[in-house]
Amino acid sequence: MEKRDYYEVLGVSKTATDEEIKKAYKKLAKQYHPDLNPDSKTAEEKFKEVNEAYEVLSDPQKRAGYDQFGHAGANGAGSDFGGGFGGFGGGFGGADFGGGFGDIFEAFFGGGGGGKSNRPQKGNDLRVDIQVTFEEAVAGIKKEITVERYEKCDTCEGSGAAPGTQPTSCSQCSGTGKIRINQNTPFGQFQTVKTCPRCQGKGVIIENPCKSCHGSGKVKRKKNIVVQIPAGVDTGSRMRVAGEGEVGTLGGPSGDLYVYINLAPHKIFQRRNDDVICEHSISFAQAALGCDVQVPTLEGQVKLTIPAGTQGGTTFRVRGKGFPRLRGYGRGDQHVKIKVVTPTRLTKEQKEMLKAFAASYDGATPNENTAANSEKDDKGAKGFFNKVFNNNEKNEKNEKE
Ligand SMILES: [Zn+2]
Ligand SMILES: [Zn+2]
Repeated sequence: MEKRDYYEVLGVSKTATDEEIKKAYKKLAKQYHPDLNPDSKTAEEKFKEVNEAYEVLSDPQKRAGYDQFGHAGANGAGSDFGGGFGGFGGGFGGADFGGGFGDIFEAFFGGGGGGKSNRPQKGNDLRVDIQVTFEEAVAGIKKEITVERYEKCDTCEGSGAAPGTQPTSCSQCSGTGKIRINQNTPFGQFQTVKTCPRCQGKGVIIENPCKSCHGSGKVKRKKNIVVQIPAGVDTGSRMRVAGEGEVGTLGGPSGDLYVYINLAPHKIFQRRNDDVICEHSISFAQAALGCDVQVPTLEGQVKLTIPAGTQGGTTFRVRGKGFPRLRGYGRGDQHVKIKVVTPTRLTKEQKEMLKAFAASYDGATPNENTAANSEKDDKGAKGFFNKVFNNNEKNEKNEKE
């Protein structure tokens, strides 16, 4: 089913203020609340839809993400990848009564302030940092990660009560988790609402706590989770794995797991955006005469044709050997900067040949020649950085693939 635009769902404009959004939401949530429409499937659907829209539009970060990237952006709260690829994102699993609109529910159903409540709460989100290599980032990879997190206690099924017993409703607050206190002051009587001291706001009392979890309903456990890292990730990329955070309380949904990516440095390659950069050395004879060389890429060697007369510092582009673009299509390129290596150990015979060459070369002496070359090298190097950093590619002499 195609998701409707969240603004449309709430019947507000794209520029609506927080107050307008809240007001629209209250009205619709009341209208479609399942308690008031017990038999209507449509009302239930609408209710979910309205809640989902509100959860996003009431959160400035999620709203910004939604405005920019649509539904995918809202899922991922801005900077991560949203729900696009296998198994991640996942959207909003059912009604989420945590955080965002809990306060409004309280206002509807008679709570009204007073600290902790006994409503279901979403579990904590977790963060895991992982390192990936260049090769892994180019191809995408499945990684198994271990998280230590609170999960539902198996012994008591999360109730916190020993097997065979049940938590009982707190008699002091009648299960609401809150008590009202009337205070007489010189200015009249005031009523304040406080968290119930007997049940600490939970609304229930556990007389026989479960031995495994000491009544909390949660136990800490290590869990292995396999995550699919999409091709193209870079340092700072963040993925959300919905529902793999910590277990919620009182039947609330689990939190989410956020996987932060760190790209490990590479021996040969550097990365700029989606492009890969490397250096490749050739002899000055190869540079002068031209040659075919094998250069490494993140996916094996490719042949690169160096034209005769290539100066040191020249870069060649190997198309499509960079990183896949995380958002959008296609791939970056690889830029190969040529380094011309001056020979240092020559045989007597080679020296003689070079001298003969120098003498025949336009009369230029070896000294002058060296100076001229190094100046050109500098220009070449500058050209390289211009190209790579400013995307000025007019100096590129050769393009492959
Ligand atoms: Zn337990
Ligand atoms: Zn109580």
